[in-house]
Amino acid sequence: MAAVRFVRAGLIAASSCALAACATVPSTDDRLPPDPVAAELAVPDGGDVELRYRLAEPTSALHFADRTGDYRETAWHPLDPTFRWVAEGDGERLERADGRAFDSVALTVTPRYRSLVKAYGPFSPFSDGSLLVYSGQFHACADLPCDGDEPLPLTIDAPGRGIATPGERSHDHARFVSEGSGSNVFVGNLAPVAADGFNAIVDPGLPEAMRARLATGLPDAMRRLADAYGPLSTAPELYVSIDRRAQPDGNVSIQGGTLPNQIFMHFDGEGIDQKLAGPTDWIDWFFAHEAGHLYQQELAGSLLGDDRIAWIHEGGADALAALVFTAEGRDAYVRQRTTEARDACRQGLEQRPLTQAAASGAFDMHYACGMILALALDRELRAQGSDLHAFDRRLFGSVKAGASWTADHWFATARELGASGAFVAQARALVGADSTAALAALAQLAPQNSTSER
Ligand SMILES: [Zn+2]
Repeated sequence: MAAVRFVRAGLIAASSCALAACATVPSTDDRLPPDPVAAELAVPDGGDVELRYRLAEPTSALHFADRTGDYRETAWHPLDPTFRWVAEGDGERLERADGRAFDSVALTVTPRYRSLVKAYGPFSPFSDGSLLVYSGQFHACADLPCDGDEPLPLTIDAPGRGIATPGERSHDHARFVSEGSGSNVFVGNLAPVAADGFNAIVDPGLPEAMRARLATGLPDAMRRLADAYGPLSTAPELYVSIDRRAQPDGNVSIQGGTLPNQIFMHFDGEGIDQKLAGPTDWIDWFFAHEAGHLYQQELAGSLLGDDRIAWIHEGGADALAALVFTAEGRDAYVRQRTTEARDACRQGLEQRPLTQAAASGAFDMHYACGMILALALDRELRAQGSDLHAFDRRLFGSVKAGASWTADHWFATARELGASGAFVAQARALVGADSTAALAALAQLAPQNSTSER
């Protein structure tokens, strides 16, 4: 997914002191202005979720940065029918039809998975009734401009159930501040299993073959990447869920992604088991790709969310997956993926340059062209005694130290590590605004038959 950003979710520590002792300690909250927008989620054990926004000041509209198709309009139902959804640029707003100001609005939402373009769905149900809630979908603003990453204090009530917010587990009730691109919150009574450096909550209803893959694929990828970069500073959380209930539109979906210190995957829809019954190399590839993002985030310690240059982190993560697979001797699958990526990149470039991919609904070109470029860089650097891992350490490390996150910085870093001027010219052409030049560069950079040149 594109929304790979590294922002530590803030925690509001639950008070652990006795009431009498607390009374003498002034609350930090009392000294701060109230948050412009806060949200509350009531998550019953079955049935619809109630979502309520509270505003510090009365306002005429609640703004959402991204519209995500008609999702909210069709699935988030205001309790008060006076409220309506209105499209607003790339986003949308919730307002009263009579134009009057409001300081609170409540909605009911059925907590089903919904496949959204370039956004994580807000709910991933587990087969036992547990629920993974993606907080980023709830970010909202009282005023414009609204970027979607404004901090949102979020209260979750789930009587009788456990709630896991980033870094904290509680029961019945939890509160945290969702920041940046948001975090996953687990609601349910499945216990996390610590294994191979992960805290994993895996749906007990997953097919056995899938459970077996999970037990090896992700830890294997993490070990390979740890060989190159060292261990992650924090054990990541892994969430895997499956919901076999039929979707109204018959959709069968697989969603996976990474958020700060979290990897997650959801399988959804009637017939999902048939989809999972075939070869499973792609699942290991998915986990290696997502593990790659965790390392990118660890190294960069900052936002990696610019869609216009997503070839850097999406293509880079696919290239890391390729290196993991190569290290495991799985060359045939790497060749298959590389051929697919080369063809997809070429077909995309025949329609538009990469600079227009995200805006024209061809975001996948960033994966395909980016992977070809990153693997070409790896070959180029290996000829100089270096490799993609050294490049990633330099690139992401410099971003952490304050360098700007740009294509030019990528090219400059490649030169610093010994890539030739000719190579960097081809790289510039591949990701540049001239499709013809990009196709010519692709022909130079993409291996034609074999990727096992190393
Ligand atoms: Zn990705």
